[in-house]
Amino acid sequence: MDADIEGVPQEVSTGSLPAGDRVQRSVDEAHARYRDRDEGEVIDSIPELAEADPALFGLAVAPTGGDVHAAGDADVQFTIQSISKAFVYALVCEAHGHDEVLERVGVDNTGYPFDSVVTLELNDGHPKNPMVNAGALATTALVPGDGAAERWEHVRTGLSAFAGRRLEMDDAVHRSESAVNQRTRAIAQLLESYGRITTDPLDVVDVYTRQCALLVSARDLAVMGATLANGGVNPLTGERTVSPHVCRDVLSVLAVTGMYEKSGDWLFGIGMPAKSGISGGIVAVAPGKGALGAYSPQLDSAGNSVRGQLAAAYLSRTLGLNVFASSAAGGPRG
Ligand code: GLU
Repeated sequence: MDADIEGVPQEVSTGSLPAGDRVQRSVDEAHARYRDRDEGEVIDSIPELAEADPALFGLAVAPTGGDVHAAGDADVQFTIQSISKAFVYALVCEAHGHDEVLERVGVDNTGYPFDSVVTLELNDGHPKNPMVNAGALATTALVPGDGAAERWEHVRTGLSAFAGRRLEMDDAVHRSESAVNQRTRAIAQLLESYGRITTDPLDVVDVYTRQCALLVSARDLAVMGATLANGGVNPLTGERTVSPHVCRDVLSVLAVTGMYEKSGDWLFGIGMPAKSGISGGIVAVAPGKGALGAYSPQLDSAGNSVRGQLAAAYLSRTLGLNVFASSAAGGPRG
């Protein structure tokens, strides 16, 4: 479908968050409501991640203009895991442009687990989207740089700009995942066999495994998401990370694919583009308004943090973050 709208100005469709004290109250309430919920399991596929304290629960909301509102363990650091895919995709779209990246990696949900090879085989080695491992590896392979070390530095610097501070890598998690990521290596080599990765696939896997091991907090995730909500400008530092159209593209991909096989359920219930990771983080974005970051390591069967989802549902409802919600002009809200 080609609407021939290249060059037509992009108008925006956004509102604003409630006042800061109201936001803080909702964040506190969300934390209090769900901190004692005890469903879900801590991931054990990466041995080092199995050590996480299941009781941890941090929440933060970062508006596009103003201070971050946080509750609970919002400053506890954990590895970003798959949430890195969203921001690396943004960096790669910024570097190569929408069309070139779309040719390499699609934007549709697979309906399969993130580490599946099934859809790659069914689609002539063309990854369906950048949030499953096949698409994430094809995306990381497109990171600018001469060799793995330069690519890794580009990723780390880029994600740090989203967070507004220099992010460190957790060496133990990187080592731990590197020892058990045979499936990721297999996917990278499969991509190479289809000609979708043209550099050394194991170098790509290492950059990918490093990006997954970057340490962030719920507060960082909120700021990173708020940067996507703010047309690419970090609301705390004022630094431009990527262009507004890249933010729009990333958020549309997240809406369709960000919450594993539960992306539709999430969008139906919560109505925000979002990404989660298997260490228990979630970032969810309200374009123009801000973003929330959540961390709690107990996951549902798809790999999404249970407390994080509950809190996001509450915050989406109370702060007007659901991008699909409206009311009749002048009429009551339903
Ligand atoms: N590093 C993990 C992997 O590739 C990330 C998984 C995730 O958070 O979804 O297996």
